Amino acid sequence: MDAPPHVLILPFPAQGHVKPMLTLAELLCHAGLHVTFINTDHNHHNLRRSSSAPRPHRLRFASIPGVHRPNITDLFFSVMDNFKPKFRDLVVSMGGPPPTCIIADGIMAVGAVEVGEERGIPVICFRTQSACSAWTYLHLTKLIEDGEIPFSGETMDLPITSIPGLENLFRRRDLPSICRIGDLQNPIFQFFVTQTSAMTRASALILHTFQNLEAPIIAKLGAIFPTIYPIGPLHALLKAQITDHPAPSDSGSLIPQDRSCLTWLDSQPSRSVVYVSFGSLVKLTRGQFLEFLYGLVNGGKPFLWVVRSDLVLEEDRVDETPEELMVATRERGCLVDWAPQEEVLAHWAVGGFLTHSGWNSTVESILAGVPMICWPQIADQQVNSRCASELWRIGVDMKDTCDRSTVEKMVRDLMEDKREEIMKSTAEISRMARDSVEKGGSSHSALEKLIEDIKSMKF
Ligand code: UDP
Repeated sequence: MDAPPHVLILPFPAQGHVKPMLTLAELLCHAGLHVTFINTDHNHHNLRRSSSAPRPHRLRFASIPGVHRPNITDLFFSVMDNFKPKFRDLVVSMGGPPPTCIIADGIMAVGAVEVGEERGIPVICFRTQSACSAWTYLHLTKLIEDGEIPFSGETMDLPITSIPGLENLFRRRDLPSICRIGDLQNPIFQFFVTQTSAMTRASALILHTFQNLEAPIIAKLGAIFPTIYPIGPLHALLKAQITDHPAPSDSGSLIPQDRSCLTWLDSQPSRSVVYVSFGSLVKLTRGQFLEFLYGLVNGGKPFLWVVRSDLVLEEDRVDETPEELMVATRERGCLVDWAPQEEVLAHWAVGGFLTHSGWNSTVESILAGVPMICWPQIADQQVNSRCASELWRIGVDMKDTCDRSTVEKMVRDLMEDKREEIMKSTAEISRMARDSVEKGGSSHSALEKLIEDIKSMKF
């Protein structure tokens, strides 16, 4: 009898990548495939500490030591320098028949594709982002050729014309944050150029989106990738498919979740609460932290804010919060270290999400039908916030400012003045997201096709 298909899944070692890729791993195991999920030692330890989820018996973990770095910039350098030889060693040391395929993060493509080519193992890239972002990163070189990057502070509002399908939508300030680096030889900028280019050598592309959200850009990506699987929202696919033992929402969390905020939400009026989270990486100066706090308090709505222990920059961590602000926060707010975000967004008391526009947060908010106030900072977040506000009309974009009066205005716009209009498109897109994961829906079908293609390894 043939051995069952065995897939190696290789995420970039950060929260926003580990979570969707682990969810995909669970879905593949549920379909009878064997999966080895490759973590760094550090993330493996954190996953075990933070997540109570029972794992499918076909899911194994392997770890690559020595790649972890405490800050994200150093992590990119570490992946560039250390990852490929260690990944090759791991594949060789596994013994037995070679894996059926590698599903590699799109920003781990260089090492994964090269090791895959050396050893004759097909590689599928999973860019854990929107189609619009993947398409934008694929145009970095074109943006340079056309003189649209680098740009300066004065030209931030000029339109972008060199990304087909997204003209008339993006300004320079809406490009991924690496486009703000003036020096195009900068190693981080070059990291993304090289990883994106290597990604085009993969056999196929997986995207964490759904067909109806981004059909025109998915079609354009089809000119580069003959096979594309849009399989988002993954957490909803998992829930829809595994009904007998639903995965807890901390399944891919690298930080322990504080569930006490769910009890606080139970005591709030329906759709009244602004949920605030800037994801796992974004940091604030103390000044920005105070502007947000004033803006939220003055906005007049109850708020639940995820204040990670490292949210405020270390050099700024002196406690000088004015007393009147502390009192107002205690009256109206709830602060937690890390929340069960999917459950928070699905809670009936939550009416809006002040977010950094990380892609997982965006997809989770779309699914829950919660409109957003977007404050993007790094990576693809600028792209996501522009799409949320101007393309999908499911939020407002406060890009590049966070003074207290703007925060207050955005809260009032989202929760009152512009709510009716924004809620129409939010409810419509949420319905499309939910439909996509049902049997016969586009994401459900794309996942089935991915599983069949892996079983037969035809692309
Ligand atoms: N998240 C969470 N609890 C929190 C904040 C975030 O579980 O208090 C999860 C969230 O549900 C999402 C992920 O962390 O799946 C963050 O990913 P995203 O792409 O939004 O942002 P990143 O952390 O990569 O900047």
